Amino acid sequence: MTSELVYVALGSNLGDREQHLQRALVEITGLPGVADVRSSSVYETDPMGPQNQPDYLNAVCAFHYSGTAQSLLPQLQALEASHGRVKATQRWTARPLDLDILLFGEQRINEPDLQVPHVGIGDRSFVLWPLRELNPNLLVPGKGSVADLCRHCQRFGIRRFNEAS
Ligand code: AMP
Repeated sequence: MTSELVYVALGSNLGDREQHLQRALVEITGLPGVADVRSSSVYETDPMGPQNQPDYLNAVCAFHYSGTAQSLLPQLQALEASHGRVKATQRWTARPLDLDILLFGEQRINEPDLQVPHVGIGDRSFVLWPLRELNPNLLVPGKGSVADLCRHCQRFGIRRFNEAS
């Protein structure tokens, strides 16, 4: 089976945030069908939505995946659950681990439980800036290059976390 280059956003704002991200990267590396995992730097970002919650740590990772996006999603959701995430009824609430499929090769997917490219990809600086670090020339289907999207999205509420990491 051929593999696709996949980009996944990682976020955490509960518990030991750095450890949640580091553990998640190791766990993603161990998933069947995943190879060549690379990660951006970690950024600390203001929360989206309700402001009465801790700041996030965010990063983006890239890897080759031999399988379908529909088979990857439940595996990422199982990782979220294993980090103690409980399903919230409200959007944008605090969570130990959030994993979103940003891009799955050049595929466009529009299903009830899976939209790729991720709906927020074009206007979230905490996604675009780490993506640009991994590949500024990357094309987001239907939206243009990551570098261009960054130019139209203010670098707002996001700072490098722990330069050495
Ligand atoms: P969130 O609270 O942001 O983690 O959203 C979780 C919900 O988004 C789940 O019900 C997923 O089925 C849905 N979803 C839709 N598109 C995606 C995507 N590209 N990556 C991850 N979850 C997605």
